[in-house]
Amino acid sequence: MNHFQLANTQDPIFSYVSVDVKVHADTPVKILIVEDQIRLGQFLKKSLSERTYTVTWTRNCAEARNALCETHYDVIILDLGLPDGDGMLLLQEWRKGGFNEPVLILSARDTVEDRVKGLDVGADDYLPKPFSMEELHARIRSLIRRQVSVKDTVLEHKGIKMDLIGRTVSINGSLVELTSREFALLEVFMYNPGRIMPRTLICEKIWESHYDVDTNLLDVYMSKLRSKLEIDTQKPLFKTVRGVGYHFI
Ligand code: CA
Repeated sequence: MNHFQLANTQDPIFSYVSVDVKVHADTPVKILIVEDQIRLGQFLKKSLSERTYTVTWTRNCAEARNALCETHYDVIILDLGLPDGDGMLLLQEWRKGGFNEPVLILSARDTVEDRVKGLDVGADDYLPKPFSMEELHARIRSLIRRQVSVKDTVLEHKGIKMDLIGRTVSINGSLVELTSREFALLEVFMYNPGRIMPRTLICEKIWESHYDVDTNLLDVYMSKLRSKLEIDTQKPLFKTVRGVGYHFI
C-alpha cells in the first residue's frame, strides 16, 4: 500500500527519512511542479520540500511558462491534463524553444502509447498515476545524477573546452593534442579558473607524493602547456607568480 492516496495521510510515504540531494554543494536543487489537482500539488510540494528541494508549484500552463522564463529548474514534474492546455504540447513548446530542463511526466494517462509519445516529445521520464512517492523520489534523484555527470564531464573556460570523458581539449573549436601529464595539469587549472594555484598544490595533484618541490619539472610542463594553449601571445592564459605558483587568468 505505498501508492499515493490522498485520503490516507498515515501512508508510510510520509515517513521516509529525508535525503539531502544537491546538484552542487551549497546550491539547492530546484524543482518545478506543474499540477492542477490542489491536494496532490500540496502533497508533492510538502513532500519534496521536506527533502530539502526548493519547490515551485504551478497549477496551469500559463504559470508554468512564466516560472520557467524566470529561472532554471533542475527537474520539472509535469502533469498532462491541465486546465488551460495539454502538458504534452507545453513540453513540445519548451523543447522547441531550447529549454532543456529534465522533465518527468506524472500523468493518469498510462497506456504504452501515451508513454512513448511523452518520451518522443522530449520527456526524460514518465511515471503513471497512481504512483509510489518512493519511486518518484528515486526517479528525481536519478534525473539529478544524470545532470551532475553531464555537467562535470565538460569543463569550459576562456574558449578552452575540456572533455574529461572523451579526453579531448579544444580552443575556440580547434582540437589541441596534449600528453596525459599536460592534460592532468590543465585539469587542475580548469577546476580553478581565476585562482592563483600554489606550486606545491599543483605538484601534489599531478605527481602525488612522488615529487621534489625543488625540481623545475613543473616549469617544464607549464612551458609545454603554454606553447600549446597560448595561441595569441598577446593574451596569456597563465601568469607566473614568483615564489607562489601560477595564476590561471
Ligand atoms: Ca491534471
